[in-house]
Amino acid sequence: MDTYEKAHKERKRINFELQDVDGNIVGCTSWNEYAQQFKDFLDIKNPTESVMAVIQHGKINEWHEIDEVFQLRKSLLVQQGQAGGSSSQSILSSTTVFPVRQEFLIDYPKKNVDDIIEIETTMSCVVVATIKIVQENYGWFYPACRKCFKKVLTKTEYLQYAQTIAESVMNLAPTSLVCPKCEEECTSVTIKFKVHVRVQDETGSVTFVMFDKDVMKIVGSSASDIREHQVKSNDTQSFPFEHTQFLEKKLAFKVDITQYNLNHDYRVYTVQKICDDPDILDELVADNVVSRDGDVADEVSQEVWDSKAVQLSEDSQRAGDSISNRLFRR
Ligand SMILES: [Zn+2]
Repeated sequence: MDTYEKAHKERKRINFELQDVDGNIVGCTSWNEYAQQFKDFLDIKNPTESVMAVIQHGKINEWHEIDEVFQLRKSLLVQQGQAGGSSSQSILSSTTVFPVRQEFLIDYPKKNVDDIIEIETTMSCVVVATIKIVQENYGWFYPACRKCFKKVLTKTEYLQYAQTIAESVMNLAPTSLVCPKCEEECTSVTIKFKVHVRVQDETGSVTFVMFDKDVMKIVGSSASDIREHQVKSNDTQSFPFEHTQFLEKKLAFKVDITQYNLNHDYRVYTVQKICDDPDILDELVADNVVSRDGDVADEVSQEVWDSKAVQLSEDSQRAGDSISNRLFRR
């Protein structure tokens, strides 16, 4: 393992080669904590044993040169957009070798916190900021339809929200749960994270809402596991995270400015994805990236609900509490 210094920080790097069963060899580099993990693992292994490595989200270092892949990905997105197919995710992921890097450094423009509230069209952008406050009063989870991960509502809530109401829903009991996306009774409910954080950069501060995947990345367990534990130990009111897990974390956030934000001057923005890769953060902060504005179709995120439902109230959190209690007490 090499140890070196970059931007006054100690960095670690380990180079190795992987060989598959057909004899193909690929050179790899692990960085920082991954390098350390690899070294720690090797230190306790018998050096004559084979080691298998599974690499997730690896990036190919000659990615700058393979514009063909980018063009192919784009054409697939366009075709998918026209066909309206639902298989775009699988086609996309099999052709996207470096999605995070592409997404955070190239596909979307980088903005400062103060720029965001000035934006007047719907768009996605990338913001590098530090989490300063976790806003507990908004709660930390929502009850979600297991099929589509949309927030489920009680029938009473749904009647206020929906424009057309199916007859099957009309006939339900008032406390029945309804999925606004599936537009039917929801009998299979799960719990997903939704956490409000106040973030800050040199220009100002703003509130972001983070959803399941990203919160799980920070917290390290699933919302339903945490909730189940709470319900079983009769402690459903407390906020279950150590704030230190969030606070002072500097991250790149890909956020959406939605029609709802614009129409209602609503300054709480939905996070589509976070990135904590130190190399990507360094590049973003160094501001040496030329952004290409909005010519790539936005990614579909199942966990992001309709902008309409983004507006939150303490009421909706209370409803979430009672739904989740029902769920785990069964
Ligand atoms: Zn649903």
